[in-house]
Amino acid sequence: MQPYLAILQNQLSEITITNHDQIKIFMKDYLILLYYCYTKIEDPGAFRMQHHMYCIENNLRGRIIVAGEGINGTISGLKADCEKYMENLTADSRFSHTQFKIESFDSNAFQKLNVRVKDEIVHSGFKHIDPTKKTGKYIEPHEFKKIKDDNDVVIVDVRSNYEHNIGKFKNAISFDIENFRDFPKKVEELKKYQDKKIITYCTGGIKCEKASAYLLEKGFKNVYQLHGGIIKYGIEEGGEDFDGKCYVFDSRVAADVNKVNPTVISSCYICGTDCDRMVNCANPVCNKHVPICETCAKEMDGACSEKCLEHPEKREYDGRGYYPKELNGYNPYRGSTRA
Ligand SMILES: [Zn+2]
Ligand SMILES: [Zn+2]
Repeated sequence: MQPYLAILQNQLSEITITNHDQIKIFMKDYLILLYYCYTKIEDPGAFRMQHHMYCIENNLRGRIIVAGEGINGTISGLKADCEKYMENLTADSRFSHTQFKIESFDSNAFQKLNVRVKDEIVHSGFKHIDPTKKTGKYIEPHEFKKIKDDNDVVIVDVRSNYEHNIGKFKNAISFDIENFRDFPKKVEELKKYQDKKIITYCTGGIKCEKASAYLLEKGFKNVYQLHGGIIKYGIEEGGEDFDGKCYVFDSRVAADVNKVNPTVISSCYICGTDCDRMVNCANPVCNKHVPICETCAKEMDGACSEKCLEHPEKREYDGRGYYPKELNGYNPYRGSTRA
């Protein structure tokens, strides 16, 4: 098939020709699914292989991590394919308690499919913790909204700098960490809140399963976790009091979650004005991921500095500052039985 036809077919669900002059085109509906499930997977390698094939056959794209302790994924695909996926996964008793955060989108949010086996479903500094045995108490979004401003409540962001720098809950405590692995080193900073109700949160809830368990292990008594994270709170409660945007790991880069009282908390890397427009520097060697306002981006042709602007490998700026990786040689079957 010609490449442009493949693209067209991907965008359109149905072309109905009622008479020769009239062509009706319906745009397709896509979904983005964010989910995780801590559960025992006896043979992660075999499960991965089978799961990988299933995703290919159902036109799904995205990133899925499989480990002995469970599954963690963000995928996108046509609405019908995503619905089938959710049904299929939860039909397996190991994954029956999986909660999906479901958002709609006008295209695939991923270009590729990657299904990988790793030691943990999210890289942490505490492999010994099993959240299926002990974890912080779940607090649902509607409950969180009610109590988040109470005097005896402390809200703790367990995410990294690049995430909370562009958005976090009003009054939340965040840590200067580059990686979730460094969270344990920062727990000391919470000691003064030991008598308060601590509520941890992250993007979709997965990090909190272990972070809250770790706090319990360190002697904190009143530990809660926002169930389903920022994304579920945005979907169910409109995201009130979440300042800025939520960093996500698909082509959206930063998702709007607050439909009630949205604000901008980050500023343009070049001119310093309020800005939450995340851009990758057009110099591939730099590739810095920073907010750059539209005016500066235009002026700098997508580069973050004069030096990057003059770099011989500088990419062409297309007005977005998102440079999808080359799909050259991409084979969705790589790593599967049909490779
Ligand atoms: Zn600017
Ligand atoms: Zn740069």
